[in-house]
Amino acid sequence: MKGIIDFHTHTFPDTLAEKAIELLEKEGGVPARLDGKVSSLLASMDMCGIEKSVICSIATKPSQFNSILKWSESIASERLIPLPSIHPYDPEAIERIEIIKQKGFKGIKLHPYYQDFNINDKKVFPLYEKISEENLILVLHTGFDFAFERIRKADPEKIIEIKKKIPSIKLVTTHLGAWEDWDEVRRLLVGEEIYMEISYSLEFLDRDKARDIITNHPERYILFGTDSPWTDQKETLELFRALGLPPSLENKILRENALSLLSSVDIDKNCFLL
Ligand SMILES: [Zn+2]
Repeated sequence: MKGIIDFHTHTFPDTLAEKAIELLEKEGGVPARLDGKVSSLLASMDMCGIEKSVICSIATKPSQFNSILKWSESIASERLIPLPSIHPYDPEAIERIEIIKQKGFKGIKLHPYYQDFNINDKKVFPLYEKISEENLILVLHTGFDFAFERIRKADPEKIIEIKKKIPSIKLVTTHLGAWEDWDEVRRLLVGEEIYMEISYSLEFLDRDKARDIITNHPERYILFGTDSPWTDQKETLELFRALGLPPSLENKILRENALSLLSSVDIDKNCFLL
C-alpha cells in the first residue's frame, strides 16, 4: 500500500495504555480520540489511507530508556516507525544515542516540557551534535504545550539557535513550527531548512495563516502529522485537504517529503529493524 505518512503519533504498550491515556487526559485536559493501543492506531491508519506512522515516545526520566527501547523494537514494522527517547539530562545519553542508531531506529524524540529543559540549554547541545553525527532525525516538540504553563522553552528563536550551531541536523519541529507561537514561526522559521510537521495546528490557526506559513516555507520541509490520539487522523486529514494546496505540494507533504527524510537515514543492513 502506498499512502500517507503521519510523522507524529503516540501509542503505548497495551498493558499501560489505559493508565497513560487517563493520566495524560487529566494533565492536558484534552480527551484522547483512541485508546492509545497500537492496534487502534493501525485501525485508524487503515481507515484513512495512512500507510506509515512515526510513533514518538517520551522518556520522562532516564530510567525509562530501556523499556521504551525494548517496546519500540517490538512494534517496529513497515508501517510503524518508532522513535525511542532519551532523557536530556541522562548521564548516559550519548551512549544511548549510539544504541538507538545501532538498533536501526530512524531518530529520537525530545520534549522540552515533559522532560523539563530549554531547547537551547548548552548542556543539551552535545546530544544534538551526537544525533546529527549519527545521522538520526531529531523530532523536537516546539512551541508551547497545552498541558504546561506558557514559559518559553522551545520557541522559534531557540530553534534557529540550534540550526545555526548545527546546520546539518535533521530537525523536525512539531505543530507547524511552534505551537501557538505562529507569528514567531512566520517571522523567524519560514524559509529556513528546518522541517515542520503540521499536527495540532490547523485546529487553531485560521486557514489563510496556515497556508501562508506552508506555502512560503521550502516545499520539502513540510510534513504531515496528526499527534494522534490527541486528534483524530481523519479529521486532521480533512483540515489539511481543506487548505486547498496545489496537488503536487499536497503529495509532497502527505508522503514524499517524509519518505525522503526517513530514507536519508542510513541503516546498517545487519540491523533487525526494517
Ligand atoms: Zn505529540
